Amino acid sequence: MTASAGVPAGGLAGVPAGGALAAVPAAGNRRSLPMPANLKFFYGPMDCGKSTLALQIDHNHARQGRCGLVLTQGDRSAAPRITTRVGMSRTAVQLNEGTDLRQVLRNEWAAGRRVDYLIVDEAQFLTAEQVEQLVGLVDGSHVDVYAFGLATDFRSRLFPGSQRLFELADTITALQVEVLCWCGRSGAFNGRVTDGALVTQGEQVLIADTAADIQGGRQAETRYQVLCRRHYRDRDLGPAPGDPDQLALT
Ligand SMILES: [Zn+2]
Repeated sequence: MTASAGVPAGGLAGVPAGGALAAVPAAGNRRSLPMPANLKFFYGPMDCGKSTLALQIDHNHARQGRCGLVLTQGDRSAAPRITTRVGMSRTAVQLNEGTDLRQVLRNEWAAGRRVDYLIVDEAQFLTAEQVEQLVGLVDGSHVDVYAFGLATDFRSRLFPGSQRLFELADTITALQVEVLCWCGRSGAFNGRVTDGALVTQGEQVLIADTAADIQGGRQAETRYQVLCRRHYRDRDLGPAPGDPDQLALT
């Protein structure tokens, strides 16, 4: 058979493809081949809907017959599930910094359960080593990984897990649900507020929704407030710190 000029690479309609073209899988056969998997990192400030999107992606995959596992760490419910501020929830495998993610998958496979994808919520709390384990699962076992997390902590420094995800992920997406500072500007800074004042020193991880920290022998009220860069740097929590919904009128 000789190649003829003007024939498209995909062959002509109605003409069986042969020879070199046999190596190109037909559309219907793609599912039987191991497809390359991806590690996708979605990041944004607090309250930008990360957990909601995580559960939506899980739902979309499950509806297509894919089997997934949801992992979380330090979720606001302090229980092995993902909860969202809009009221959705799903049971999840609770991780800690010593969890070997490859072993979590091996346990699933040993129990006869297929895992096509992983959803990792609160991914900023992963260790760098755990991110590398995820990369191994993507490249070695063709498991898709969707990781959701904060980029920076209350000091505006990258979390180690987020840093490693920025370095290794196949795709990095800033979530587009905008969270506003009290002034109306876009907020990207996760301010930690203890007893009504912005603090920039202390433990990197403090889950304010479920815990209070001890200061001077008593329980101090700690919460988080999303701020724009200017007001984060000025430590300005706005005219009514007790009412984060209020916008300045001037
Ligand atoms: Zn502001």
